[in-house]
Parts: sequence; C-alpha cells; structure tokens
Amino acid sequence: MSNDKPNTAAPALAPNFLRNIIEADLSSGAHVRPGLPQVITRFPPEPNGYLHVGHAKSICVNFGLARDYAGQCNLRFDDTNPAKEEQEYVDTIMDSVKWLGFDWEPKNGDGQSHLHYASDYFDQLYAMAEYLITAGFAYVDSQSAEDMAANRGNFGQAGKNSPFRDRPREESLALFRAMKAGQFKDGEHILRAKVSEDAMSSPNMNLRDPAIYRIRHAHHHRTGDAWCIYPMYDYTHPISDALENITHSICTLEFQDHRPFYDWLLATLSDGGFFARPVPHQYEFSRLNLTYIVTSKRKLRQLVEEKIVDGWDDPRMPTLVGMRRRGYTPEAIQLMCERTGVTKSDGWIDYSVLEGCLREDLDPKAPRTVAVLRPLKLIIDNFPAGESVECTAPAHPHFPERGLRTFPISRELWIEEDDFMEVPNKGYFRLYPPLDGKPGSRVRLRYGYVIECTGYDKDENGKVIAVHCNYFEDSKSGTEGSSTYKVKGNMHWVSAPTAIAAEVRLYDRLFTDPQPDAGGKDFKLALNPLAKEVVQAWLEPGAELAQPEERFQFERHGYFAADRVDSQPGKPVFNRIVTLKDAWQATK
Ligand code: ATP
Ligand code: MG
Repeated sequence: MSNDKPNTAAPALAPNFLRNIIEADLSSGAHVRPGLPQVITRFPPEPNGYLHVGHAKSICVNFGLARDYAGQCNLRFDDTNPAKEEQEYVDTIMDSVKWLGFDWEPKNGDGQSHLHYASDYFDQLYAMAEYLITAGFAYVDSQSAEDMAANRGNFGQAGKNSPFRDRPREESLALFRAMKAGQFKDGEHILRAKVSEDAMSSPNMNLRDPAIYRIRHAHHHRTGDAWCIYPMYDYTHPISDALENITHSICTLEFQDHRPFYDWLLATLSDGGFFARPVPHQYEFSRLNLTYIVTSKRKLRQLVEEKIVDGWDDPRMPTLVGMRRRGYTPEAIQLMCERTGVTKSDGWIDYSVLEGCLREDLDPKAPRTVAVLRPLKLIIDNFPAGESVECTAPAHPHFPERGLRTFPISRELWIEEDDFMEVPNKGYFRLYPPLDGKPGSRVRLRYGYVIECTGYDKDENGKVIAVHCNYFEDSKSGTEGSSTYKVKGNMHWVSAPTAIAAEVRLYDRLFTDPQPDAGGKDFKLALNPLAKEVVQAWLEPGAELAQPEERFQFERHGYFAADRVDSQPGKPVFNRIVTLKDAWQATK
C-alpha cells in the first residue's frame, strides 16, 4: 500500500460554528481584498517541543478550513522566546505538518510561500512599540519583578498603578531604545501597554498593563545576537496575524480572555495607520482532550528525559512523530479531527474514537498477511516430510481485483500458542487432543486443510512444545472436497521452513487511567506496563520485503506497520498500530 500520500479529498463538510462564521463572511464579502483569498488562517506553533495529537486538531482545523474554502493557511513559527527554541523543533514541526497532509507552498498564484516566522517581524514589531510609546499607549516600567507582581492585584482585587506609569513619553522612549541597545540587564526594565487610564483595575487581568517587550540577553535560533529585547506572545501574535492578512485567527478557548487585548492592539495600531481595516478577528474553540494520553509538553518531555519511553518518536507517545512511527495514518488522524467536530464546550474524546478511525482507514487499504506472534510448533504427522503444497489467499478479501497471494503448507507449521489447549474450556473450538475416549478436535487451517489433533509433546518442565495432528488430503480450501468437512475452528498458521522471523512490537495505550493527569494526579502512576511487549514472531513469506512504514493487517491480530527506523529488508520489525477489536471497552 502507499503511505504518506497527502489526503487532498475534501471531507463532507459537517456544519460547525467556524464553518458557519466563514460561510456568513463569504456571503457578506467581509474579507474581499484585492489579490487575497477570503479565508486566511494560520497555525502558530512555538518551536519549543514536538507536536502532539492536540496540535493535529489545530492543524486540521486551520489548514482544513483553508482547504475547504479555497483559502490559505500559513505555518507561522511563534519564535519569540529565544531561550527555549531550537532548530530541531522547527524541523520536526514542518515534517509533522507535511506528514499530516498539509503544506505552505504558494497557492494563490502569487508565488509566495506561506511559511513565516514571528522573528521576521522583529523590526516591525519594534517600530510599532515605539509608536505606542510616543502615542501614550505604552511605557517603560522599572519596578522590580516582585513589585510588579504585587501591584498587579488579583482576580476580584484591583491592581495598583506602577509609579513609572506616568513617566514622560520621551523618557520611556529613551529607555526603550537603551533596552534595545543592550544597556540593561535582564529584568531591569520592561515595556508595558497602557490600554486605558484605569486598566490596572480591569476585571480582565490580561488588560492590566500587559508586558509587551522584555529584556533577554539570549541567542535566538534565527536572529542570533541581533536582539536583546524580545516581544511577548500577546503582543506578537495579533500583529503577526495582521501583517499576514489573516482573516480568521483560530485558537483554543484559553485565549478567550486575551481577545480584548488582541482587539485593542489591532484597533490602536490601525488608528495609527499601521493596518487597514478590517483587521483579523480571533475565534476560540475547545481544545482536543483525548483519554489515555497526556498532551502537556512538559509531561511529554518528562517521559522522554526520564527514559520512561524510548524518545519523542516512541510509538507509545501521542506525539505526531510517535504516532507516525507506530503506523498511524495521517488520514485516520484527519478523520478523527473531523469527526470530533469543533465546539466551544470542553470535553473528553475517548481514545477509541481515534482507534475506530484507524481501523476504518486501514481496513480497505491494508493488504492481509499472516503472522504468528506466540509460536507453537504444529506437526502434521501424515504430511510427507520435505514436501509442500501451495495455498492461495486473497490479498484483500473485499477487493478480489487486488489478486491472490500464495504460500506453501508443509509438515511443520507455526501456530499460536493459545490456539491449543490440553484440556479445552467450554466453547473452545480450536485445537485440543483426544480426551476420555473422544477424538481430538478438528479445525481448518485457513486457506489450507482440515486437521484433527492427535496429541502433543511436553518438555521436562511440562511446557507444551509441539502439537501433533493428521490432515485430510481432500479437504483443501477452494477444492470441492472442502465443503464436506464442517468444523467450528479456523486457525491461522505459517509454514515453518519458509516462515520469516521478525521482531513484532505489540503497543497498547500508554496509560491505564482515562485521565492520567486530571485534578493534579501523578500521571506516572497510571503508566500501562503492558503498553509495549516485544515478541519474536513468524511471518508469511513476503513480509521480508516490507518497506518501512508499509502497513498490513495481520489476520486475526490487527493492523501492523513496518518500523520506519528499525525495519530492514530481510530483517523486518513490525509495530502494532491497533488491534482488530476494541479490547478496552470490554475489559476495563
Ligand atoms: P505551550 O504551553 O508551550 O504554549 P501549546 O500546546 O499551546 O503549548 P503551541 O506550540 O503554542 O503549544 O501550540 C500551537 C497551537 O496548537 C496553538 O494555537 C494551540 O492553541 C494549539 N493546540 C495546542 N494543544 C491543543 C489541543 N489539545 N487541541 C487543539 N489545539 C491545540
Ligand atoms: Mg501556546
């Protein structure tokens, strides 16, 4: 099967409040501007970590709306915090966005890439800050950090004006220039906005003279040592949106309280002649919360740094690099994002929704093959030694046009350990030996013959090491004789002499608690010890040719992908993407 094809097919557009807003704006012509699409969104990651499935939601919403309405979505690195940002993160974020099926290539005939960095706007951001100072909308505060915090007040308690709030504008401007020139240490001064005369008693803490520039003597991954003052997020973000002609600035609900400052800043700068109206508008939707994972960057980093997982791309991680390595498809993640909708109310989405999307996406795509994950030898005593017979099976049961696969059956096979029981439980229809004068069970070896169990061998510890049976030569699947045998059990197998040895990594959910970090719980106490199990399996011939990231359904087991790092031609390593059925609903 092919991997990594961007999914360009637009999904059916289920209405949601963002689509409603955009459709209303399109019909009223709210964003008709020469040479620009009417829908311009952006995805603004901070390059300080790896993207996770929550970011995928934001990517699918922003890039998806642009795709659905013939618009444009910018990838903008919000790189205003030099201390925590690195090129490594820029690279992985770009990779993940592309992998999810989106890009920032020129789209509107203007030849312009839609890849941006907030750091590209440092000059403009600085010029606008000087304007705000001279127009009386910003001042340099020289309070200590402690005084500033104390004077900010609290929820329900007004703050106090800084003693520097009314210093002359020229003095603020001179100080700001001196800050830029590197004449002060980190934290000595800070530039704050003055939204209104009584802003320090605003019920919205974000309006209480928010900091807009701070001193940071730090090397920046793109601008190097050119700057020692850096703009704050709440200042940079609206201006970047406006500079990029964003129409709908979509973010998560926690930014709702930041919107009044967003609106004030862009209105003030428009009055100052920096932007034409209409300026961008911010819309908030509820973040994606998936059960059985954590999405805090700090906690994900902890898992990596404490070596609880094997790196950012560990297939158990909810990072996009981890999900990719596990074998998750971008189409399934897109489907989950679409299916979970866009709302304004916080809620939890069960992880099984994502797994359901994976099965739905993989079922028609993944060719079938056989893997024996916990092998036990089966010996067909009446099968001539050294001989083999060819069996055939569909590459995909629902798509006969995809053809057949062939594999041999011979005297010695591998079957699953749990397909044999010395003494069968009630309702067990697979292999068991003759018992109390009754013959052993009869089962069909899928695509092969019907066999009857005759006995088994144990080692000195009492462990079953081989099962014996006889086969019925006229029972082969696909032949006339096969229908005369009625059996209840149907088992998969691989022929021992030609089976391909492979390491198979059986991954499961990383946590056993649906909300591992809710209410301040220690998420590390909820780690699932069974989230990774490694087995040495036997695979159907042909599996040794699997390309990295090639995906299969291992019959009866689930969907598996060749590991994109460790799998090699002739030495395959497979990861379990998802089981065929949801075992969690039933047992937990
Ligand atoms: P930080 O605390 O470091 O800011 P962050 O998760 O907000 O972490 P960003 O890089 O700032 O990381 O996120 C980029 C975008 O992804 C933001 O617009 C943010 O709202 C969005 N985002 C992050 N997590 C989720 C989520 N769980 N669901 C939907 N969107 C999300
Ligand atoms: Mg953020």
